[in-house]
Amino acid sequence: MTASEQTPTATASGSEQLLSFQRRLIAEMVGGGSLLATLTAVCDQLELIHEDAWALVMLLDRSAGVLRFAAGPSIPDEYVVAVDGLVIGRGFNVLGEAVMRGEISVVNDTRTDELARQTLGILEGSEIRSAIICPLRHAQGPALGVLAIYRHRPHTPAVEEIETAAALANLATLAVESARLHATEDVPGGIDTATGLATRMQFLELVNARVREPENQVAVLALGVDRFKPILDHLSKLAGDRVLGEVARRLRGAAGDEALVGRYAEDEFTVMVAAANERTALRVADRLLGAFDEPVIVEGGEFFVTATIGIAHSNGETDAYGLIGDAITAMHAARSEGLGRRRTYDAGLHARVAERISREAQLRHAVARGEFVLHYQPCLDLRTRRFTRVEALARWNHPERGLVGPEEFIPLAEETGLIVPLGVRIMLLAVEQARRWRERLPDVRLAVNVSVMQLANPTFADELLAMLARAQLPTEALILEITESALMQEPEMMQRSLERLRQAGMPVALDDFGTGHSSIARLRELPVRTLKVDRRLTADICRDPAARTVASAIAAIARAHNLIAVAEGLEDADSLALVTQLGYAYGQGHYLARPDTVGATEALLCGPVPAHLSS
Ligand code: C2E
Ligand code: MG
Ligand code: MG
Repeated sequence: MTASEQTPTATASGSEQLLSFQRRLIAEMVGGGSLLATLTAVCDQLELIHEDAWALVMLLDRSAGVLRFAAGPSIPDEYVVAVDGLVIGRGFNVLGEAVMRGEISVVNDTRTDELARQTLGILEGSEIRSAIICPLRHAQGPALGVLAIYRHRPHTPAVEEIETAAALANLATLAVESARLHATEDVPGGIDTATGLATRMQFLELVNARVREPENQVAVLALGVDRFKPILDHLSKLAGDRVLGEVARRLRGAAGDEALVGRYAEDEFTVMVAAANERTALRVADRLLGAFDEPVIVEGGEFFVTATIGIAHSNGETDAYGLIGDAITAMHAARSEGLGRRRTYDAGLHARVAERISREAQLRHAVARGEFVLHYQPCLDLRTRRFTRVEALARWNHPERGLVGPEEFIPLAEETGLIVPLGVRIMLLAVEQARRWRERLPDVRLAVNVSVMQLANPTFADELLAMLARAQLPTEALILEITESALMQEPEMMQRSLERLRQAGMPVALDDFGTGHSSIARLRELPVRTLKVDRRLTADICRDPAARTVASAIAAIARAHNLIAVAEGLEDADSLALVTQLGYAYGQGHYLARPDTVGATEALLCGPVPAHLSS
C-alpha cells in the first residue's frame, strides 16, 4: 500500500472513538497546540486501542538525513538512545527504509526478518517482535517522518488495524505540516558563524541548483574529522571555534577557489567540486587530507587532526540530499577500513555500512546499559612463586551471544569514540575491585588496559586520580597497561595525560612489547615501569632461537633500565622455565591461570599456589 492510497479507506473505517479523537486533535492543532503534545496524543490513542502495543513517532531531520525521536510515551529510554539518528535509505534499517519508499511496511516477526531484527530486536528482556511502520507523508509531498507501532509478540495485523494506523499517521502528518507553517526558527542561514563556510542548508541548496542541469557533473566529498569531538569538548568554546576556523581555512585552501566548502555537522564538512571524472575528485581528496599534515596550534596546544573522506559523483538522477548521503556512506565505509583514508561511493557499500551502523548501535546500547564485566588473569611472581598481580580484561556480557571477548568490541569502540564512556565504566569496575582486594589481599596489584583515545582525553588522568581518591586508594594501587604501538604512534596526543600520571606516580606497563618500534631513549621519558613482552614472541621462544634472542634482549633492557619484565602468553612448563631462567620478574599465561570471574580468581589468589607452579 502506498501513502497516497491511505486516506479514503482509513478515515472511512474509523470507529466512533477514533473520529471523535481526530476532531478533538484537529481542533487543538488549529488552536495552536504544541506539536509534541499532538504527537504524544496520537501515540497514546494507539496504545489505548491496542493495549499490548507501543507507539512512537520519529521526525525527519532533513539537513542531517536522519530520523530523530519525537514522541513515544511508553518507549524505554534505552530504545530511544538506540534509534535516535537512524539513517534514511535502503538497507539500513526498517524505519529509514519505509520513509525512503514512502510506503507502509509491516513486520510480522522480527526473528524472520534480518533487517527488522537488527533495527528492532536489540532490547534485552523487552525484545520487539512485530511492527507496523507508517511514513508521515502526504501524496506527492516530501517525507516528514514515521509512525511505528510495536509489539513484544509476533503479530499479523488485520486490514482495519493497518487502516487505523494509517489514519493516525495522516493526523500526525497534518500536525507536522501545520507546525512547519507556524515555525519561525526553521529559516536556513547562509554562513556558519564559527567557520565562515556555507551552512548545511545553503550547501544543499547550492548543490541542488547545480545538479538540476544534467551537464553539470559534480562530485561531493564528505569529510569527517577523526576523533574531533574529544578535542572540541575539552576546549573552551572560543578555542574550539578557533580550531574549527583553522580547519575550515585549510579546507578552503586545499579545495581550491572553484570548490564550495560547507560545514555539515560539528565534525563533518562537505566539499562540492566540478568533477568530470573520478581521478579529479580523488586528487582533491588527497589535497584535503594533506591539509592536516601539520598540527593545528591553539592556545599553546598542538592538535594532530586527521580526516576521513567519502566521495560521491552526480549521475543526473540523485539530488543533493542523496548525493551527500552517498558521500557520507562512503566516508563510513572508509572509516571502517582505518582512519585517514578516502573512498568513492559504490552501491555495494550500503550493506556493509548498514552492518557496521547496526553493530555500532548495539555497542552504544550496551555501553548505555553497562553490559560489561571484568574477568581477571593472575600473574605469577617468578621469584616468590606467588600470584601478586592481576590483569583485568573486559568482556561484553551480550544478551544473546553470552560473553564476547574484547577483540570483537574494543577496535569498534576505539573507532567510534565509544571507548571513552566504555573506558570510564571499566575503570570504575576495576577501581571498585582494587578497593575490595586492598583489604583482603593487600599484596595484589591490579592492572587495567587503556586505549590511546582514553589517554588522549585531557581529563582522563585527573578523572582516574579522582576515582582512586574517592575509593581511598593510593595511586599505585592500579597499573595502567598501554600497548607499545599506541604509545609510540601518537605520543603527542597523550602527552598531558602521561605527564600528569608521571607526576602522580601512577605505574604504567608497556603492553605487547617487542613487536612495535619503541625507542629505548624514550622509555626513560615515560612513566613506564613494566615491559610486558608480547605473547606472539613468547609463543615461540622454546622453538625459535630468534624469538628467544629477542626475549632475552628485552629482559636485559629491563634490567639495565630498572624496569620490571613480564612474560605473557606462557602456555607450557618449558616456556615458564625458560622465562624464569632469562630473568623475567612475572609470568602470565594459560599454563599459570586463565582469565576468569572474580570468584574463581579470588579462590586462586587466596589458596595455595598449584603444585606445578610452586618451584
Ligand atoms: P592484552 O592486554 O595483551 O591481554 C592479554 C590477552 O592475552 C587476553 O586476551 C588474555 O586472555 C590472553 N591470554 C592470556 N594468557 C594467554 C595464553 O597463555 N595464551 C593465549 N593465546 N592468550 C592468552 P583478551 O582478554 O582477549 O584481551 C585481548 C586484548 O584486548 C588485550 O590484550 C587488550 O589489549 C584488550 N583489552 C582487554 N580488556 C581491555 C580493556 O578493558 N580496555 C582496553 N582498552 N583494552 C582491553
Ligand atoms: Mg594487557
Ligand atoms: Mg598483551
